[in-house]
Amino acid sequence: MDGARVVVTGGAGFLGSWLCERLLGDGAAVVCVDSLVTGARTNVAPLVDHPRFTFVAADVCEGVPVDGAVDRVFHLASVASPVHYLRLPLETLRSGSLGTTHALDLAERTGARFLLASTSEVYGDPLEHPQHESYWGNVNPIGPRSVYDEAKRFAEATTAAYRRSLGTDATIARIFNTYGPRMALADGRVVPAFVQQALAGEPLTVAGDGSQTRSLCWVADTVDGLVRLGESGFPGPVNIGGDAEVTVLELARTIIDLTGSSSTIEHVPLPQDDPRVRRPDLAEAEGLLGWRPRTPLREGLIRTIEWVAAQRRPEHLPA
Ligand code: UDP
Repeated sequence: MDGARVVVTGGAGFLGSWLCERLLGDGAAVVCVDSLVTGARTNVAPLVDHPRFTFVAADVCEGVPVDGAVDRVFHLASVASPVHYLRLPLETLRSGSLGTTHALDLAERTGARFLLASTSEVYGDPLEHPQHESYWGNVNPIGPRSVYDEAKRFAEATTAAYRRSLGTDATIARIFNTYGPRMALADGRVVPAFVQQALAGEPLTVAGDGSQTRSLCWVADTVDGLVRLGESGFPGPVNIGGDAEVTVLELARTIIDLTGSSSTIEHVPLPQDDPRVRRPDLAEAEGLLGWRPRTPLREGLIRTIEWVAAQRRPEHLPA
């Protein structure tokens, strides 16, 4: 990456900001493009004075206003958490469709290598377990989650078509649940929600009976997978995620244990079309990229708990 000029759309989001930091560390010049709809300036605040970092405030639905040579485009810009995409359904569809087309056009025009940040949600509520990349998914096309799932499926179709029709050097990462510092505290994601509840001594809101599973990946591990895939020239799709599967109830109990909290568990209604199980088959990632997640869940959770606790200290709270 030394000397490469890399555009990261969604670079001020949770994953995007970790990716920008990693790429700067690898010697790249990074152009971070973000609308700040769900991203936050604070996520990239430590990077803004870096001589190789540029921030561009723009909505990818309108275009990606970057001039000059570009070597890589990492296209992450999207609303990504259920709470937000249920609140912003049309914006989510537009960023997956129009936004992806604009990001691909930039790669096509500049000859840059392109990586689409797709999602395990393309598998929907999967009927195959674990999910291999060859599985086509089980998505309710008109349910409330479809605005995200189908937007990302459209984004995958567009990326594959640019590669086939125009020869764009494009690849697709299917990213599974990722956690760590800088997750938005108010976006309803299970890890920050449970950690905040545990630290406040409030009940942990477990959806349904909590038997649904997720496989969580530490953010720096996910970012390493994205960088390796982006450098590989392999068309994908490739699953990037953790393969240590836990039930939501087990996760709640682990977080109560790690925080030493006296919180109880409160069962709340399961959201519509909430996937019952989720775990990536990592054979492709291991075989093609030599990548697998390294950070054990408890270790990553401890670091995340420390970060959330620091955000809750008075100097970080709004006046
Ligand atoms: N969940 C929960 N309590 C919460 C938030 C989420 O039990 O306060 C559940 C949610 O229903 C899902 C899982 O945790 O089964 C992961 O949810 P998240 O929104 O983090 O990600 P998803 O994988 O659904 O996109």
